Amino acid sequence: MLDLIFPIVCSICESVSKDGLVCSLCLKDIRFVKGRFTCLRCGVPFDLAGVSKTYSYFPSEVSIYEHLCGRCLFGQFYFDKARSVAFYDGLLREMLHKFKYQGKLSIGEVLSAILIENFPDDLEVPDLVIPVPLYIDRLRKREYNQSVIFGVNLSKYLGVPMDPFVLKRIRDTKPQFEIKSENEKIENVRGAFSIENFDKIKRKAVLLVDDIFTTGSTINECARMLLRAGASRVQALTLMRAVQS
Ligand SMILES: [Zn+2]
Ligand SMILES: [Zn+2]
Repeated sequence: MLDLIFPIVCSICESVSKDGLVCSLCLKDIRFVKGRFTCLRCGVPFDLAGVSKTYSYFPSEVSIYEHLCGRCLFGQFYFDKARSVAFYDGLLREMLHKFKYQGKLSIGEVLSAILIENFPDDLEVPDLVIPVPLYIDRLRKREYNQSVIFGVNLSKYLGVPMDPFVLKRIRDTKPQFEIKSENEKIENVRGAFSIENFDKIKRKAVLLVDDIFTTGSTINECARMLLRAGASRVQALTLMRAVQS
């Protein structure tokens, strides 16, 4: 009866949905990372064309679930673990753009719910959630940092505090997707962050939160600064994973 008065509407396509927040048709459009073989450390999926041939390495004495990608074997990352919920494409990608650039805050709540419902089993509950910060000028233009909204919801879900101030972006950087070479991506973010208060970080297990993981250089640079400030470990969770061809 209540359903007739207040039908549940899919928050993506806005059609009447029997399935709750996201209808089954829209859900089908989301490609989740869960259930794929991924690098144990950086979370890059292996089952995509080319990746397994060029990067992965399967030591014979360990199970297929315990493998690392080439970048992780060579120790390129400071963070302990990075995980993403879904791939950066289709409907979810459109939703993120609406949320980030068109000021659709309500979409942020839906995306947060997708992030939380699919919180990876192998991430540890941290002491502190820290969203990847935006540079102040960008924040003024956009009015909010999408990662902080994910952070607020994650912190509620995990029952741990979030601190959106302790890690600061001290200079503007080009959007990473505008840069092709990986070295340039690393240079683009190097020294772009600072820690405001070391005491808030010391001996804390931190979970960094952001919208997209592309090559990981932004998250890695944040992790480097946090560890330098005394964090005991850094893990990262992004809603999406961009896979480069
Ligand atoms: Zn739908
Ligand atoms: Zn890896």
